Amino acid sequence: MNWAYSFSESGELGRELLGGKGLALAEMTRLGFPVPPGFTLTTAACRAYLERGALPEGLWDEVRAQVGRLEEATGKRFGGPGLPLLVSVRSGAPVSMPGMMDTILNLGLTEEGVAELAASTGNERFAWDSYRRLVQMYGEVVLGLDAAGFERALERAKALAGAERDVDLSPADLRELVAQFKGIVAAAGRRFPDDPWRQLEGAVRAVFESWNNPRARTYRRLYEIPDELGTAVNVQAMVFGNLGDDSGTGVGFSRNPATGERGLYGEYLKNAQGEDVVAGVRTPQPLERLRESDPELYAEIADVAERLEAHFREMQDFEFTVERGRLYLLQTRTGKRTPAAAVRIAVEMAGEGRISREEALLRVDANTLPSLLRARIDPEQAPEAVAEGLPASPGAAVGHAVLDAEAAESWAGRGLPVILVRPETTPEDISGMYLARGVLTARGGMTSHAAVVARGMGVPAVVGVAGLSLNLEERTFRLGDREFKEGDVISLDGATGRVFAGEVALSEGGSGEYLHELLEWAEPHRKLGVRANADTPADARRARELGAEGIGLVRTEHMFFDPERIPWVRALILAETEKEEREALDKLFAFQRADFLELLKAMDGLPVTVRLLDPPLHEFLPPLVELERKEAAGTLAPGEAKVLTQVRRLHEANPMLGFRGVRLLLVRPEILRMQTAALLSATRALREAGKDPRPELMIPLVSAAEEVAQALEAVREVFSEFDLTLPVGTMIETPRAALVAGEIAPLVDFFSFGTNDLTQLTFGISRDDAGHFLPRYLDARIFVHDPTEHLDEEAVGRLLEIAVREGRAANPSLKLGLCGEHGGEARSVRLAHRLGLDYVSASPFRVLTARLAAAQATIDSG
Ligand code: PEP
Ligand code: MG
Repeated sequence: MNWAYSFSESGELGRELLGGKGLALAEMTRLGFPVPPGFTLTTAACRAYLERGALPEGLWDEVRAQVGRLEEATGKRFGGPGLPLLVSVRSGAPVSMPGMMDTILNLGLTEEGVAELAASTGNERFAWDSYRRLVQMYGEVVLGLDAAGFERALERAKALAGAERDVDLSPADLRELVAQFKGIVAAAGRRFPDDPWRQLEGAVRAVFESWNNPRARTYRRLYEIPDELGTAVNVQAMVFGNLGDDSGTGVGFSRNPATGERGLYGEYLKNAQGEDVVAGVRTPQPLERLRESDPELYAEIADVAERLEAHFREMQDFEFTVERGRLYLLQTRTGKRTPAAAVRIAVEMAGEGRISREEALLRVDANTLPSLLRARIDPEQAPEAVAEGLPASPGAAVGHAVLDAEAAESWAGRGLPVILVRPETTPEDISGMYLARGVLTARGGMTSHAAVVARGMGVPAVVGVAGLSLNLEERTFRLGDREFKEGDVISLDGATGRVFAGEVALSEGGSGEYLHELLEWAEPHRKLGVRANADTPADARRARELGAEGIGLVRTEHMFFDPERIPWVRALILAETEKEEREALDKLFAFQRADFLELLKAMDGLPVTVRLLDPPLHEFLPPLVELERKEAAGTLAPGEAKVLTQVRRLHEANPMLGFRGVRLLLVRPEILRMQTAALLSATRALREAGKDPRPELMIPLVSAAEEVAQALEAVREVFSEFDLTLPVGTMIETPRAALVAGEIAPLVDFFSFGTNDLTQLTFGISRDDAGHFLPRYLDARIFVHDPTEHLDEEAVGRLLEIAVREGRAANPSLKLGLCGEHGGEARSVRLAHRLGLDYVSASPFRVLTARLAAAQATIDSG
């Protein structure tokens, strides 16, 4: 095994060793695309380097040999004499990590080389500009200096020269700027090496080391990319997009990454180098304009896009440079896209016969589907926009403006929705973007960091807002002619690029024809049933529209929490006489019956699993501290003294482990009776009206068979009063219940796994306040996944497996469902499929996720 392979010999090695970029370069070279020559240092070299803290033996000899081959291929010499060979050095991990790793261009240029370059190209400005970019990038990436110092010097130079754009600086201005850049490096106690081999070595080391920088780590954690992979390094002969107006650089997509529409899409910047586009420093023009200004070039790029896509059978995102009219491809990769575009592309590619329907189904991340129904701003209702930018990532958002990731964390940590407002985003902003409802930037194009990352995350974004300026010292910003301060509420529409002051009303998104079609294809594959968790008729109707085959969980306490009803719940808790208790129960019976009627109507013909009351009673009473404060101040109202006594009596140190679920129902059976009677009464009324209600009754939080037996006895008494019997089941949401499932199963018709409580109780982690340590745990990879989000396969999954096996053995007709939050998360749905459950139940929008993930599970296993 070598450490380094040229693009023309590395094709066989695969992504693991070459990284995504190295593999694509090898493929493109093999297929005869115009790729400048180069070579790849493998991920194995990176791993060896990180292990030893030094370049592995033999690596440098191979690099020298490979550079020798580049010299031969280009007829130039690395470090001169004559026209110097310049190279780019880029990272490329096996999994695409946009913006996370670093790039250095123009490597190999020295003071001497500048003169040679100027002489042989006849373009002195270009030669000095290449050099100043090298010093700047080397300073930032290899020497770790702050970008702001270089940026300030550049701005000053432009101001001094009266130059509006970078390209307006004269050779003399640039030469002076280089001296200043070198001064900045020297002031930090570092030195820019004017020796090409030392430059190359520094760059290679920096790329290897950047694998472990905090931004890369954060990205890997968010996207669950293993830390062990390492990155490859690609060294490639430079071509120049900044040689004049017949040169340029751009980014192309074989389909529109925001909408998915077929056809070439992208951006182009004349007389510039690639980093200008990617970093969003200058705002490029739509590629479409080339159609008129340079139809031949446009046709050539469109042809490349089509051929790349046909070869890779995936939407491609490629970087190119035009050097004096000649097109070169620098890289291609699977293009990031919005969730909506992902669906459209998958459906259309299957329609075109480019991929199969099964592949189309597997290509969409099921977890992103709910975002397709994301809120929009109704153009008819919207107020006047205060500013406008590029519609980078669709969806609308309202939130408090925060000016950096740290502020995003502190505001979002208080439960407030935030919109991240930045001059442009860099990888440092990733954690803030992740927390934000929306992202707004002053600079950058549709392929800037902000745009690409926001689309990938499914966060609405508006970028390149010319009317936005920020004052980071005073924590204020300007939008159009209005002043705002951090914390002010703003709204944005990522579909149109418009930005509004204050809160704008949002309307729900539509699902779209492509999504509908994709889900139609999913149906025949799916073995798991999909129900919804819904407590209101509106939710039930929506869930049904989205394809739910019933309700897997009605949390009846949500009906108790209605402000109109709370006084009656309190009256029930505080009742001293039977008459008082009866009156409260009758009231609550009427409310519940009416609710059940509506829910069952909305789900007519489909199962509706109604769970009896679960939470502890004191949750319906005023908080203890509030009452005690009043008591201390002597302002307790007469009735409140009694309330305080009850609150004290019911107070629990640990309500999650307390007097709730079946425990409460067995101690206060009148509640169980009232709820059961309300459900039966509603059912009967509907049947009499010719409807087909299919209610099921469910008992929460059991841990012993005897609890189920006694609760059932009470339930059956009510059944016989009504002369009506319903299917009855129990939640399996304590570890003990899972372990004694074989004893419980013969008593019931179904189990529904409450994986929220089961996760809490298996880990001993509170559902409500794991925030104190869980983020740190994930950071440090003590846990790889947040178990409240992804069902833990190792332990919780094992409990489920035991309960499934022993439950079915004891009761072969037992139905099995899952109604914790995991029922709407793709990976967990796949686990449910593997465990052989009958259905999962998810919140209404996530029904879409469950439907697609269930189909994917079958295709995967088939
Ligand atoms: C569960 O615990 O998973 C469950 C569905 O019930 P709840 O979230 O209401 O406790
Ligand atoms: Mg529960």
